[in-house]
Amino acid sequence: MFNEKAQMMKADDIRKLQTEKMLKMVRYAHDNVPMYKRKFKEAGISISDIKGLRDVHKIPFTVKDDLRDHYPYGILAVPREEVVRFHASSGTTGIPTVVSYTRNDLDKWNDLMARTYCAAGAKPEDIVQNAYGYGLFTGGLGFHYGAETLGCSVLPTATGNTKKQIQMMYDFKTTVLACTPSYAIYLAEASKNFGYKPREDFDIRIGMFGAEPWSDEARASIQESMGLRAQDVYGMSELYGPGVAVECPEQKGLHIWADEFYVETIDPVSGEVLPEGEKGELVFTMLSREAMPLLRYRTKDIAVINYEECDCGRWHPRIMRIKGRSDDMLIIGGVNVFPSQIEAALLETRGISEHYQIIVDRDVLDKLYVKVEVDKDLYESEDYNQEELLKRTSENLIAVLNIRANIKLLEPGAIPRTVGKAKRVIDMREEHDRIEDV
Ligand code: ADP
Ligand code: ZN
Repeated sequence: MFNEKAQMMKADDIRKLQTEKMLKMVRYAHDNVPMYKRKFKEAGISISDIKGLRDVHKIPFTVKDDLRDHYPYGILAVPREEVVRFHASSGTTGIPTVVSYTRNDLDKWNDLMARTYCAAGAKPEDIVQNAYGYGLFTGGLGFHYGAETLGCSVLPTATGNTKKQIQMMYDFKTTVLACTPSYAIYLAEASKNFGYKPREDFDIRIGMFGAEPWSDEARASIQESMGLRAQDVYGMSELYGPGVAVECPEQKGLHIWADEFYVETIDPVSGEVLPEGEKGELVFTMLSREAMPLLRYRTKDIAVINYEECDCGRWHPRIMRIKGRSDDMLIIGGVNVFPSQIEAALLETRGISEHYQIIVDRDVLDKLYVKVEVDKDLYESEDYNQEELLKRTSENLIAVLNIRANIKLLEPGAIPRTVGKAKRVIDMREEHDRIEDV
């Protein structure tokens, strides 16, 4: 097992190490990052007020805007010359957030990623096809060096070029596929279109899927069509990249590598720390980042943390699947709706495919539109009854959302496919507001 000592740490040892590293990190961030010195001063606290983990809640939060304010070099705690790499988050809204790494940071990240592969079930003898995007996005290089560190043979195919991708998967007998879940769904579909039978023709046994939210239903569908175990991987560029948390083969939550990341759950509105086991926004403190320390970083990701021992024997606390981001939540006619709930309801409906788009619009009232492709086999069969399918889909959506959706059934292939993270929600209300502002 790769770095077994770290992977199998007991709860008490984790706490002890976290305390030790936390105290060091607080001092390091305060003394080396002007922003933290200022934040401490503004909050009226000094380093000596932080004596243990129970005091961490006194430290002010760090938010994405703090990083944007430090464009382009980010929150540096070391001279720029010591930075050996930058990454940047795609930043759909405005200025990208840049993150930086020293040599030690990269070594640490590689170790975390190698553990991540190992905990998901990968072995040094595996052939890893890495179809995450290479470049400023952390997915490509993160999954790449992690697999190399574990000792796997890596095929850096990157995203896209789907036909060649599938050909290589077949020729090289790829055993581990790393990509976004939406690309995995696309690859499964495309390989069938190219005449392959994924379950028989490919040797992939593990999928390392992450970087975006996906449902248990999507997992079931990928596992079934590809004949592999689909493992969820969580991370974000601010926290090195992928490899913050990963599912073990039990698939009962994603283990956060707690010797490197201290996690809290907070009420996203009040900022209060919530008791263990309550659903809230995840906040992380990096326990040994050199170039860009982050104290109490607000992720906007909403989840529940489980601190019990896992059946795999690991004590690293588990994220019970990311339900979505606080800023992804749609408020439709006053009702809170997470896109992941819509996905789950759709995939539970027999005859409905995993390709969908959610559109929210407003005339007088808010309206929810769901466009979804009919499953190919059903669409082509004689039994296809559009009205009946529409009725069942609509009933399933109402059951979970409590609001009525306007559903449009589309022919297979009608919705554009993505090779990276899918853009499934279009909120036209934001567009209208923008036009009205002008
Ligand atoms: P950006 O998308 O802005 O470029 P990142 O690539 O760092 O930035 O994305 C990080 C975000 O992606 C996380 O905060 C989370 O919302 C989402 N994400 C990453 N992995 C997962 C996962 N396994 N499940 C759900 N959401 C995830
Ligand atoms: Zn486990």
